[in-house]
Amino acid sequence: MKKRDIIIVALVLVAAAALWLVPQIVSRGDASVVVVTIDGKEALRAPLERDEVYTFEQEDGSLNVLTVSGGYARMTQANCRDGLCMNMGRTNTTAKTIVCLPHKLVVQLENESAQEEPEELDMVIQ
Ligand SMILES: [Zn+2]
Repeated sequence: MKKRDIIIVALVLVAAAALWLVPQIVSRGDASVVVVTIDGKEALRAPLERDEVYTFEQEDGSLNVLTVSGGYARMTQANCRDGLCMNMGRTNTTAKTIVCLPHKLVVQLENESAQEEPEELDMVIQ
C-alpha cells in the first residue's frame, strides 16, 4: 500500500466516524422539556418551547427563579450563598445541567421521546 492510499483510507475512516458521531451529538442535545427537581423530587416539567418564568420557593426561604425563553433555560435569580447557578449561564441541551447545590435544585433538559430511558447513569453536571 502506498503512503497516499493510507492517507485516503484514514480520511475515509475519519469521515465515517464523523458521520456516525454527528447524529449522536445532535440527538443527545435535542431537548424538548425542562425538568426541575428539588431535593430529588420533581418540581416542574414544562415544554422548553414555552417562554415562561418559574419561581421556586422552599420552606426555608430558598428562592430560585428560572427563566425559559427562546428555547433556553437560565437561572435568573437565586438567593443562594454562592450564586453559582446564575453563573452557569443558559442551556438548551440535555448535556448541560444547571445545579443550585445549596438549594438542592437541579434544572435538567430532557428529550421527551427519550424519556423512558434511565437518565441517571449518563447525567452530566457541568
Ligand atoms: Zn444557586
